[in-house]
Amino acid sequence: MKNKIYCEVCRLSFVYQGELKPGQVVMCSICGAELEINEVKPEVDASRFLQDPETEIRRRADNFARLRGYIFNEDKELVIEGLVDKHNLYGDFYCPCRFENIPENVCPCLETRMNEVRKLGHCY
Ligand SMILES: [Zn+2]
Repeated sequence: MKNKIYCEVCRLSFVYQGELKPGQVVMCSICGAELEINEVKPEVDASRFLQDPETEIRRRADNFARLRGYIFNEDKELVIEGLVDKHNLYGDFYCPCRFENIPENVCPCLETRMNEVRKLGHCY
């Protein structure tokens, strides 16, 4: 069974193969965010799976790296710390390396989702 799920983190929809039920947690195949299924009918509705912020961003970063085949560099812990700080201050995981706290800069940021890592060899 094919289900289309809207991800409120990367603001795109992805296709999920298989059965879904309310309460189930699935991973966005675009950004790696974990989403909890709220409703299946009439349409699939999902929202960010609420967990402790550090756990959430670590799992998202690990999922995203696995999805894209990326590896972390020695700055990983510093960046995770920065992301948790930004979450505490501004309510979401805005990139600590970027000035603007806008949805496009929520980790993994839009450029990174658009394959910037392939071009630059690393994320911003
Ligand atoms: Zn997503």
